[in-house]
Amino acid sequence: MIQYACPRCGADDLVSGVIQSTGSVHFRPSDAKFMTFRTADIPIQAVMCAGCGSLVLLGDAKKLKAVRAAAREAAVAKRA
Ligand SMILES: [Zn+2]
Repeated sequence: MIQYACPRCGADDLVSGVIQSTGSVHFRPSDAKFMTFRTADIPIQAVMCAGCGSLVLLGDAKKLKAVRAAAREAAVAKRA
């Protein structure tokens, strides 16, 4: 597990979890409009500081890279 310090108070007692509504919450880049909701959704992880309550959200950077590449390809294909 990666260790983090709270960006607000500097404490190292951070608890991992998810931000949830009726299901998992995802990040969707605005330039991914050519893609389906399912393939463009990027999973989010969250950690909460046990000291001050600050929440830090972490997106899957590898998935973002893949989504951006696919969006560029789709944009080029649409122009052709
Ligand atoms: Zn904190």
